[in-house]
Amino acid sequence: SVFIGGSIAGLAEVYTSLQKSIGATENLLEILDEPEEAITPVEQIALADQLGGQISFRDVSFHYPSRPDLTILQDISFEVEEDQKVALVGPSGAGKSTIVSLLLRLYEPTDGNILYDGKDGTSIPLSVLRSQMAVVPQDVFLFGGTIRENIAYGKPDATEEELEAAARKANAWEFIRHFPLGLDTIVGERGIQLSGGQRQRIAIARAVLKNPRILILDEATSALDSESERLVQDALDKLMEGRTSIVIAHRLSTIRQADKIIVLDKGRIVEVGTHAELIEVDGGLYRMLSEMQFSH
Ligand code: ADP
Ligand code: MG
Repeated sequence: SVFIGGSIAGLAEVYTSLQKSIGATENLLEILDEPEEAITPVEQIALADQLGGQISFRDVSFHYPSRPDLTILQDISFEVEEDQKVALVGPSGAGKSTIVSLLLRLYEPTDGNILYDGKDGTSIPLSVLRSQMAVVPQDVFLFGGTIRENIAYGKPDATEEELEAAARKANAWEFIRHFPLGLDTIVGERGIQLSGGQRQRIAIARAVLKNPRILILDEATSALDSESERLVQDALDKLMEGRTSIVIAHRLSTIRQADKIIVLDKGRIVEVGTHAELIEVDGGLYRMLSEMQFSH
């Protein structure tokens, strides 16, 4: 069905970006080789409507199938309430992107469970789950095609008004409307090269249009100039309103307002709290990381 085809293409995109950012070795084909689910569009919508955006990790441990000897996550437990903003923080290699992969069910936990609104993830059809999640990755990949196709992807029947509204909300409309072909501008290798900030705003517009219950952001590190960074951050702030969001935070300055900050180190949760709480922890990892960032 169209839905399932769409979700697999989206998955590939997410996976490509994760793979790029972590230099992973797993074979994409293993993941794409999922049996299609026998579910009608009507059932899909009914099930999707039931997802409220609450997430629980219960004693989740994980190793990648290719490296059974190497434990990547160990006894990870946390709750994300509906509409909360939760940040994942920690040194490179701590396991942040892996948690996102599990959340998207690109992999299943080796041990433990992930629940969505109290329901075990394995009991929810993948297409339903993914219809309610959107990812804005750090390094946005646009497929060669028009801006329109890149935004409408995930909601192919979107109207002109919806597309424009999404682009506006994403702070992307200003630059799109200045192209002679507007939304029909071709991007990528055969078309216009967009800047990192522009690509990211297109990904945000796509997420706005998808209107998911759960939003996952892999924050941009620094590549953006400050004007672009301001526009992206502003669009992200709007996008996070009224939905559950999980942010992999690189710049700690952007997560001061998070409801909860989960600090990971070597596959374990070492601290949980708000910015105000964690900054007070003597010798704490969060405090150390933020002192490192603000000292230069
Ligand atoms: P972070 O996002 O916090 O930097 P990751 O979740 O990307 O951390 O990585 C955690 C650990 O898992 C790292 O040691 C990394 O090398 C390993 N890893 C990540 N992806 C894969 C993979 N696909 N196959 C094997 N090991 C992986
Ligand atoms: Mg990562």
